[in-house]
Amino acid sequence: TRADITYFGAGPAALPTDVLETAAQALLDFNGTGLGIAEHSHRSELATNIINEAKADLVNYLDVPAADYDIIFMQAGGTGEFAASVYNLVGAWVARQHAAILQDPLDGATEEGVLASLRHRIKQDLKLDYIVTGGWSLKAYQEAVRLLGPEHVNLAADARTINDGKFGKIPDQSTWSLSKDAALVYYCDNETVDGVEFPEFPSVLAPREDGTGPIVVADMSSNILSRRVPVRNYSLLFFGAQKNLGCTGVTVALLKKSFLPPTTPQPSPALLRKLGLPIPPIMLQYETIAKNNSLYNTLSIFDVYIAGLVLKKLLKTYPDKVDGQQAVAEKKASIIYAALEAHPDVYRIVPDKSVRSRMNICFRVTKNGNVEDTEKAFLKEATGLGLTGLKGHRSVGGIRASNYNSIPLEGAEKLAGFIDAFAMA
Ligand code: PMP
Repeated sequence: TRADITYFGAGPAALPTDVLETAAQALLDFNGTGLGIAEHSHRSELATNIINEAKADLVNYLDVPAADYDIIFMQAGGTGEFAASVYNLVGAWVARQHAAILQDPLDGATEEGVLASLRHRIKQDLKLDYIVTGGWSLKAYQEAVRLLGPEHVNLAADARTINDGKFGKIPDQSTWSLSKDAALVYYCDNETVDGVEFPEFPSVLAPREDGTGPIVVADMSSNILSRRVPVRNYSLLFFGAQKNLGCTGVTVALLKKSFLPPTTPQPSPALLRKLGLPIPPIMLQYETIAKNNSLYNTLSIFDVYIAGLVLKKLLKTYPDKVDGQQAVAEKKASIIYAALEAHPDVYRIVPDKSVRSRMNICFRVTKNGNVEDTEKAFLKEATGLGLTGLKGHRSVGGIRASNYNSIPLEGAEKLAGFIDAFAMA
């Protein structure tokens, strides 16, 4: 049964049982309305309340500076956000250049002159920077190249170049080749497949004293809600719900309001067409979603509802909010890593110690030399004990213990106990 299992899958992840019990009831009959939560209109007042409450709880839990940031719910998935971040921040870059050209009486004289200047600036200066530290930032980089062409996308750092062609380290910031005034600088805060997590916000990307600085975009799909986030350092951060927030189907974007109208309206499709730049699908356009409080089209209110229940539970469990969860996440991770480190002849932790993820703990079982068979035995024995979902990603193999928020301390202790027992056997 559910109670016998600790599920370490990388996503979708386990959800707290009491959240699912409440949600199961709400699927049948939401608050005595006779209609389930997945049946109610997304235009109903109760749907709007669910959205607004989840937003307010997220603001509260993460201390989001809500005057300057908007929160939107989308269906894009992390993968959709790879594209959305490109469309929207390239749009914002074009809007800024356009405004600057219009202020210049020489270039701004005729429509043709404006277009010529814009084309020139795009050719010369439009750059998106990607820090590639694992499979997910690599996919985001590839999507940018696919949408814009390689001439506009700068691989500012590639972690494989310092680690024999494999992920597992983060290149020193001093080696990153950042563009001047990039339309965005992108990184993935926690690489779910490779078990690499940024230990802290990269200081080269920090805003300057006057508040200006690089336009930083981060994918926090697999570590959001597990540690404090310096929100003000980001122009955009996004995360799919299906690890620490809720169930698959809803994605959250936290966007600096200055990238939205009235400060920065997206360029018109006609202008983008003339400039040869891609036109965002309407459901990936942040300004459209934000203007409609995430209800431009049919949003799964059930998914937002589950996310809301998870946030309420976190707020109830941790009076000091995300700091409380952070302490637990660190404790669980250190218990598991300590068990692995105690047997260096049996286990090899994949990423470098300085960038080990607290969320996705990736290791190989090298005992006996025959790694594949030993790992099969490891997984089989673990499953027998109710420790499931430990198989590594198909692209890299090995073992991956995903230590998301819903893994209780006892679950981490049980896994550590098994890691120790397997090594001693
Ligand atoms: N980014 C990260 C860090 C992820 O872990 C994942 C999925 N596991 C994605 C992006 C892609 O998300 P989705 O499958 O929702 O598109």
